[in-house]
Amino acid sequence: MLEVKTIAVNPQNTSQDCSNCGGKVPKELNIRTHSCPHCGIVIDRDLNAAINIKNRAVGHSVLKARGARRDTGATKREAHTIASA
Ligand SMILES: [Zn+2]
Repeated sequence: MLEVKTIAVNPQNTSQDCSNCGGKVPKELNIRTHSCPHCGIVIDRDLNAAINIKNRAVGHSVLKARGARRDTGATKREAHTIASA
């Protein structure tokens, strides 16, 4: 059975943030090319936005899973430190 996973991402600034270096590249709607002054990448505006959306989707689930485990560990260590102090 084929499973399709849908992840909601925040679309804000997906066309302005550089998908290569993460720098902010403000541009008007009629500018169709993403040309980054920070890293020099030049790609289609929509391709840049699509890469950003994909990265956010991937980062979202990974961060959520890892963050939950890290938070739990930090809280336990913190509690231990406080208890032994
Ligand atoms: Zn860049």
